[in-house]
Amino acid sequence: MANSGQPSATPILPGSTLGVLGGGQLGRMFCAAARTMGYRVVVLDPDPVCGAGLIADVHIKAAYTDRGALSEMAKQCDVITLEFENIPSESVRFIADKTTVFPAAESLEIAQNRDLEKQFALKAGLQPVPYFAIAQESDLLQAADEIGFPAILKSNTLGYDGKGQFVINDFSQLTEAYKTVGKVDCVLEKQIMIRCEVSAIIARNTSGEWASFPISENQHRNGVLHLSIVPARVDEALAQQAIEAAFKLAEALSYVGILAVEFFVSNEGVLYFNEMAPRPHNSGHYTKDACVTSQFEQQVRMMCGLKPGDTRLMSPVVMVNMLGDLWLPDWQKIFTQSNIKLHLYGKTEARLGRKMGHFNVLAEDVESALAVAEGVFTELSGS
Ligand code: ADP
Ligand code: MG
Repeated sequence: MANSGQPSATPILPGSTLGVLGGGQLGRMFCAAARTMGYRVVVLDPDPVCGAGLIADVHIKAAYTDRGALSEMAKQCDVITLEFENIPSESVRFIADKTTVFPAAESLEIAQNRDLEKQFALKAGLQPVPYFAIAQESDLLQAADEIGFPAILKSNTLGYDGKGQFVINDFSQLTEAYKTVGKVDCVLEKQIMIRCEVSAIIARNTSGEWASFPISENQHRNGVLHLSIVPARVDEALAQQAIEAAFKLAEALSYVGILAVEFFVSNEGVLYFNEMAPRPHNSGHYTKDACVTSQFEQQVRMMCGLKPGDTRLMSPVVMVNMLGDLWLPDWQKIFTQSNIKLHLYGKTEARLGRKMGHFNVLAEDVESALAVAEGVFTELSGS
């Protein structure tokens, strides 16, 4: 789905220099897309051997709060984006005084805080999971009373891949978990009986032109994305509702860039807003092989004021994450199949739960893609 809108003012064209704050796998795939399109890329990441640093034109090895390094980056770049939401927003504001940065610090600040993002989603007309914000220990009783059990306690900030989250079945577990997170600001959420999880990825540029990728059906293991199935096996009306909800959020934020929105579909068929990410998303990695335009090319297009690329799905696809848990896989199990595309992130050290790469299986229909994906994943896990 896409709209036309106004043509963009002064687009930033190949030959210009783009910057990315953060050099993990998302930064790396952004670099690859930008360089393919003829842009220079500067990455800023403190890790001297980060995956994006290995393929960027310039790698500034400095902390995200290092003002000298941020100024240097701003001087070199025509426009800057980010690969993850936990970049300090003060750093984004600091850079925004010197050069253009998308998405804006305000969008980042909302996405960094679960309570703020739920409030924002509610205001924009979406339905967040019922929750209660906990600012101090004395809030726990009322939170438990209003939300009931089972529930999930999540730290308000700095959570990702299920970190900082606890499933809670009674009040004593709640007080215990609150202590374990260090009594930081939290939300207590109702645990939804989930039929499936879906995500919508929207692209919006400076002229308000936008496009959405086909929504993805996501399966998680231990709070971490395991695989994505596209087309999602949900009815068209629900898919449409998810895209429209993501679009409403993007409009409300006057957002520029890629915005990913995660939803739960309850057993009753209700679409609940879970969270948003102001960047390309793991559940959008299928676009690299299955769509006319990948989410990373789209990120380049949006920050440069270009028209959104065609988001058409060219083939049913299943994306499978490869974590450090299954290292080192027997690659032959992937390469003997002609319809599997392998993507590795250049990480030398494999740790449990660390995202090392993914593969996309393309097939005639999602059921065959899923069968191959699950078969290959099982074989890799056993190797
Ligand atoms: P993260 O920021 O770590 O991705 P999420 O809030 O998206 O955290 O939670 C990770 C996963 O945990 C979700 O994708 C879902 O599978 C499960 N989960 C989280 N919150 C709920 C909930 N309220 N009800 C049911 N499952 C949940
Ligand atoms: Mg999530």
